[in-house]
Amino acid sequence: MSRPIEGPEAGGGARRQLKIAVDGPASSGKGTVARLVARQLDYLWIDTGALYRAVALTARRRGVAWSSSEEVASLAEGLRVEWVRERGEEPKLLVNGEDLSLAVRAEEIGAGASIVAAIPRVRSALLGVQRHLAARGGVVMDGRDIGTVVLPDAELKVYLDASLDERARRRWLQFPSRNYDAVRLDIAERDDRDRTRVVAPLCAAADALRLDTTDLPIEEAVTIIVGWARERGSGSVGTSGEG
Ligand code: C5P
Repeated sequence: MSRPIEGPEAGGGARRQLKIAVDGPASSGKGTVARLVARQLDYLWIDTGALYRAVALTARRRGVAWSSSEEVASLAEGLRVEWVRERGEEPKLLVNGEDLSLAVRAEEIGAGASIVAAIPRVRSALLGVQRHLAARGGVVMDGRDIGTVVLPDAELKVYLDASLDERARRRWLQFPSRNYDAVRLDIAERDDRDRTRVVAPLCAAADALRLDTTDLPIEEAVTIIVGWARERGSGSVGTSGEG
């Protein structure tokens, strides 16, 4: 696993570049919010769920069952993952050179991701990649364990949540041909797997700021988080010897 893209361009050199962790359950809005916060701050958005999805998709293509821990782990350890950001475009996820950004979004691959994500060796294989991507700061990283495990030193940690009904409604709007109750059940099962796994379960870091998006428009959530980032000095001229 490796070869991430470079971090965001230095852009002024001395600007303070934070690490921002955004965690929360499925369809809590974290992907959309993280992407927009990154855009406003001119940071790099890293969707860590896509990495677990890439492992699930690759296993599926190779005929490896998601529950075959050893085989899935070996496969994860052998994947070459790159994030490529061309100027003005959203980052692309390349796996062994192939752009899988869209293919990993399939609903069933999300369910597979939450199965392979419970395998400790898979998590270890992805940990180094995620930390390397964030090493220079200037990142908004969204996932389930970013504030607790991947970036415990993040300057800003946000935990997004929303009611199960609202999250199911959002997911169903993305896949309207599906039955709403089935979508709701899938999300509830995924939540349960993510919250109860032994390694790096979904939970809020003790120092995370919580935001409930059930009735909060996305733009307002973004404004609040950008405000928190500015309070922590994002974008201000730094004084450290490094920058
Ligand atoms: O966020 P997304 O729905 O793309 O994540 C897919 C699955 O990947 C989650 O249900 C979760 O099991 C897993 N995941 C994780 N840790 C992360 C990001 C995602 O375990 N940091």
